[in-house]
Amino acid sequence: MEAGAEDYVEFIKLDPAFKIISNNYEFVVPQEKEEYIKRLCEKFPEEAKGIRKYFALNKKFFDFAKKWYEIYGLKKALYALRHMGTALSTLFHLKNTLQDILDKYIKNPDLKEILSQLWGFLGLPPSELSYVYYTIGISAYMEEGTFYPRGGSQKISDAFVKAMKENGGELFLKSEVEEILIEKKTVKGIKLTNGEIYKAPVVVSNADGVVTFNKLIKRKYLPKKYLKRINNMVPSISAISAYLGLDIDLKNFGIKDFDIMVNKNLNPENYYNEIMDGVKSKSFVVSVYSNVDESFAPPGKSVVTVLNLASWGDKKENRWKLETDGTRGEIYKKNKADWLEWLVSRAETLIPELRNHIEVAEVATPVTYHRYTLNQGGALVGWASSREQSIFNRLPQKTPIKGLYLASAWAFPGGGVNGVTLGGKWLARKIRKKYKIKEKIN
Ligand SMILES: Cc1cc2nc3c(=O)[nH]c(=O)nc-3n(C[C@H](O)[C@H](O)[C@H](O)COP(=O)(O)OP(=O)(O)OC[C@H]3O[C@@H](n4cnc5c(N)ncnc54)[C@H](O)[C@@H]3O)c2cc1C
Repeated sequence: MEAGAEDYVEFIKLDPAFKIISNNYEFVVPQEKEEYIKRLCEKFPEEAKGIRKYFALNKKFFDFAKKWYEIYGLKKALYALRHMGTALSTLFHLKNTLQDILDKYIKNPDLKEILSQLWGFLGLPPSELSYVYYTIGISAYMEEGTFYPRGGSQKISDAFVKAMKENGGELFLKSEVEEILIEKKTVKGIKLTNGEIYKAPVVVSNADGVVTFNKLIKRKYLPKKYLKRINNMVPSISAISAYLGLDIDLKNFGIKDFDIMVNKNLNPENYYNEIMDGVKSKSFVVSVYSNVDESFAPPGKSVVTVLNLASWGDKKENRWKLETDGTRGEIYKKNKADWLEWLVSRAETLIPELRNHIEVAEVATPVTYHRYTLNQGGALVGWASSREQSIFNRLPQKTPIKGLYLASAWAFPGGGVNGVTLGGKWLARKIRKKYKIKEKIN
């Protein structure tokens, strides 16, 4: 809102939030939290007490974090003092994984699976996922709603660009930064690969954490301890997706939801291990964009993605079959075609004869996600969301170089559109205050 971008993007509320199809059950997660709790209690009556306790704990942390993140300086300290119990409890729960908390309140494995279903968005299974990070991130879905930007997520970037230009900013596309210029531990600007130099007292990097500090900055400028920490951090997982244009309206074939998550593994850990081992997993997510946004496809047609989480694999393994010089050749294309076949065959368990209705098909592998973001391994959400790399253990926005800051999925508070938008907002406020920049340049 502070950037003035909110008028340029329309958010469509998703209702239901998503649907789960598992080996043992089907469950529709509604948009409204109380309705969600009610349906869970009806399906698992013996767990009703635990369900309510679990949601109450999530809400406690979400409410606390939401307010705490929005206030600054002395107000922050006073707020923490006034809510000392929750502040201490948050600190205490930083050591917990999502699995720890699920095990404390819930017994039924299907119920645990439903409650942790969105672990894939953060790229680590419940046994490794930071509980506080998950609950603050995912509770927003329950407390504030699940939304889709009309026209696709590019519209969010477009809205920020428009607002930035209205405030005197400029955007340079196809301009790769080669070096962040530094003198006497102070940032001086950036140099592009075409040799152009832009001088600036402040540089904000939203490139991959490892790339920022190993490639864009000469290592001699960084404390060894800091560099060691970064090089020991683990990136989040990637994905492989088929983007399909169909000559049918899926609504007429009984597919009316937006996100349908199909769990074919024994549990999330089993799914995650398969992905890490490079196995083509039977679990997948289907997202039918044209079901929520009619601008995606002409009447009578549909746009759908079929997604599997995926891992880049060990460097030596060449899992994605690149040429020896790292380029994409015929073997890479053949592998992509095999994956398309696999993903379509998976989706056909939900949409019979899907392949006969495909007009357009594109596949994105971890290599594709790397190509467009330059994120190591095609990472989806910056660092993996483990306890060791989340909340206060995420990289701080301030760096050891004066004037150089981070605002991205690799820095505090974390990845996902919500996380990076909040991070950008906080950093903009800090920089404005520090450099005494007026709210509006124009
Ligand atoms: C397939 C997929 C689905 C996702 N779905 C969701 C979702 O449903 N909800 C959600 O909240 N999040 C989702 N995410 C995650 C979300 O998109 C990211 O967490 C978020 O976009 C990260 O924002 P960022 O600003 O840190 O980086 P990015 O959006 O990756 O932007 C970084 C930019 O910097 C550019 N760059 C990198 N290096 C350089 C350089 N040297 N010079 C110049 N430019 C450079 C990159 O090209 C890129 O444009 C998804 C991600 C993927 C890949």
